[in-house]
Amino acid sequence: MKENKYTPKQRAVTALSWIMAVVSCVLLYYEFSSYKDLKAYSDELKKKPENVTFVSDFVQETEPVSYDYVINTGSMKIHKPECEAAEKMRRENRDYITADELEKYYALGYSDCSFCNP
Ligand SMILES: [Zn+2]
Repeated sequence: MKENKYTPKQRAVTALSWIMAVVSCVLLYYEFSSYKDLKAYSDELKKKPENVTFVSDFVQETEPVSYDYVINTGSMKIHKPECEAAEKMRRENRDYITADELEKYYALGYSDCSFCNP
């Protein structure tokens, strides 16, 4: 009779280890796939900053002492300071101008916000 190198229990443990190794690989693969999806999703969000609220938007910013209009350097729109769209604007896109500077910004290609119509 051929001598059995491993006991049935040892063989069961070995088989179980293999199964777990394969399952781990599969799980890892799906984990990685969902990570890629998440990354694609977050890249997608970054492309549409208007729809996203960033924590930095809530950070108190220092406003200039005197200004007449709020401009969005991203969308190139000129808003009244009280405009709702101007308040929701991303902080890094926000800039402040005076009435004297208005013509200069129109020349640069800026246009009036259709919502607040400054
Ligand atoms: Zn506006």
